[in-house]
Amino acid sequence: MKNRRRKRKSYTIVVGCGRLGANLANTLSDIGENVVVIDKNSGAFRKLSPSFGGITVTGDASEMAVLNNAEIGKATAVISVTNSDNTNIMVAQLAKEMFNIKQVIARLYDPERECVYREFGIETICPAVLSMKEIDKLLTTIDLGALETEGETV
Ligand code: AMP
Repeated sequence: MKNRRRKRKSYTIVVGCGRLGANLANTLSDIGENVVVIDKNSGAFRKLSPSFGGITVTGDASEMAVLNNAEIGKATAVISVTNSDNTNIMVAQLAKEMFNIKQVIARLYDPERECVYREFGIETICPAVLSMKEIDKLLTTIDLGALETEGETV
């Protein structure tokens, strides 16, 4: 991730401290950003690096009290990457509509829902769609490689 210069220090809430969330939280902490990570399972915080300098909040992020504990009101970005599309959508909608947070990103496993929520102004990432694009790129490279090799031997 690029260390971009920002006007004011960001305050990012990462929801879900799984493989993706923990990596994201570690990276943001490493570049000196304020970061809070929420997970309903306190054992998940073991994935954070020993140098993690942010705050952890244990609880179900679909509960308003938990989001308030994480001080969602002062967040500049909310990234919801639990393994539940419903939770990610709910958190993203709350962040956008109730707290007017500009940068809101949700991971959605279901590609059909991804299109719908993008229309509501919520940035979404869908692992299946990203994987499809990468596979397509690889297949194109393989095809081109094969054509070039054939050309050389003709
Ligand atoms: P992964 O599947 O590795 O991306 O991990 C997803 C993480 O999201 C796990 O650590 C779960 O405990 C966490 N998680 C799932 N649902 C919720 C929720 N409602 N609130 C907070 N964390 C959650």
